[in-house]
Amino acid sequence: MHSSMVTAKPHAALLASPGMGHLIPTVELGKRLLTHHGFDVTIFVVTTGSSTTTSQILQQTSNLSSLNIVVLPPIDFSSKPGPKPSLGEQVVVAIIESLPLLHSSIMSMKLRPSTLIVDIFGTCAFPMAREFGMSTYVFFATSAWFSAVTIYVPVIDKKMEERHANNHEPLFIPGCESVRFEDTLEPFLSVVGPVYEGYLKAAQDIISSDGILINTWQDLEPASTKAVRELSILGRFTKGPVYPVGPLVRNIEPRQEHKAVLRWLDGQPADSVIYVSFGSGGTMSEAQMKELALGLELSQQRFVWVVRPPMEDETSGAFFDVAKGGDIAPEYLPDGFLERTKETGLVVPLWAPQAEILGHPSTGGFVTHCGWNSVLESILNVVPMVAWPLYAEQKMNASLLEEQLRVAVRAKVAEEGGRVVSKEEIAMLVRRVMVDEEGVTMRKKLKEMKQSGHVALSNLGSSYESLCQMTKLCELHVQGSKAKAQGA
Ligand code: UDP
Repeated sequence: MHSSMVTAKPHAALLASPGMGHLIPTVELGKRLLTHHGFDVTIFVVTTGSSTTTSQILQQTSNLSSLNIVVLPPIDFSSKPGPKPSLGEQVVVAIIESLPLLHSSIMSMKLRPSTLIVDIFGTCAFPMAREFGMSTYVFFATSAWFSAVTIYVPVIDKKMEERHANNHEPLFIPGCESVRFEDTLEPFLSVVGPVYEGYLKAAQDIISSDGILINTWQDLEPASTKAVRELSILGRFTKGPVYPVGPLVRNIEPRQEHKAVLRWLDGQPADSVIYVSFGSGGTMSEAQMKELALGLELSQQRFVWVVRPPMEDETSGAFFDVAKGGDIAPEYLPDGFLERTKETGLVVPLWAPQAEILGHPSTGGFVTHCGWNSVLESILNVVPMVAWPLYAEQKMNASLLEEQLRVAVRAKVAEEGGRVVSKEEIAMLVRRVMVDEEGVTMRKKLKEMKQSGHVALSNLGSSYESLCQMTKLCELHVQGSKAKAQGA
């Protein structure tokens, strides 16, 4: 048989790092490769403890029996001595400790994967992938703008970076909006030290991969997607092509009657409820939670609020312990709040069916921490936002939503602890989205964005085309490996 006739079905292994915001888009990418692009798909899930939320997310994929999911045994790093590492460092440590398990798991597979796709924390698995002869891809489960910053970091002008960190000057990124210091990423707060070094190393690994996928689409971020792709801008810094492949978000599951929150929403008028949630890990101080409660009350809008216990000095305190922490303890909500709002509001402890809530006709606004999955889910459900960023790249996302896309108003959250957003400010932000003309204008824009997102994913759409091109490269890689094996 001629070598080009050899069937070259690629088999992608996707490595999902800990955290719902990483697992959910990785699963969606896996589903897409399986159902639209002819891949065999195995998803390896790195875990840091048994989580019912993880199991629920994975259970929802069980209708796709051909999707192979391997949950690696949990890594326990809670008792390590020394100073507490950053969130990113903890995620990377969990992956590094999972590598031997990943290795033995791949070794035991009859049909070994031909391609490894990791998120930005998983590049430490690349040496192993290359040892197995796999091609390597990185999936940015976030914006093209953040991806552009990361691609630029290895070649960035050191002096400019220092001026950004020390003099708080904007960080210039070719072809994209500059990053204001107030919106900057943790590594740029100090361009020496382990957090920066870790980010730089990851960025170097990312640009040396065979290709980069981003969960965005051309029409949402035209300038940034152009910048990361074009050789004359940032495209020349990556070894392989860069593909916008989004918006990949979780589909709404068939209605489950036990979900009280959805039944409650059924009884409310259209677009009348503001949904308040800070993602899978977001936490805030007790004082801020009390103020938020009073602000919701003052706004006189109906609300659904996903509440988890307060944490004084951590904005990502629930990241590794999603949906743990007990029931609502009324002592951290203002006296009488639950009683006073029982007709107009619903407080849901710990975790809520967010995709379904945002897709419900009664939901008309979203107070969000601006995690990228939440952002995409909101856009695709035409829900304007109150941006309340907490950690990671969320401040950049908030700025993108407020200033570039103009589909959100933004809360002035303190840089470093301390400032509490007042109840008056919260009420005003909520009313701007829910009641004022501003919200109506935002909904019009969101409708167009939703439409363009669907077009991007449809046959011949830009994101669909991107994955077709990536598929071709993966097929060529399989053919090349087979030819090599036959020649050996
Ligand atoms: N999510 C959910 N219920 C919750 C909180 C979060 O279903 O109570 C989902 C949400 O729909 C999104 C993901 O978890 O798909 C969170 O990802 P995101 O990027 O928004 O934020 P992260 O949790 O990574 O900070």
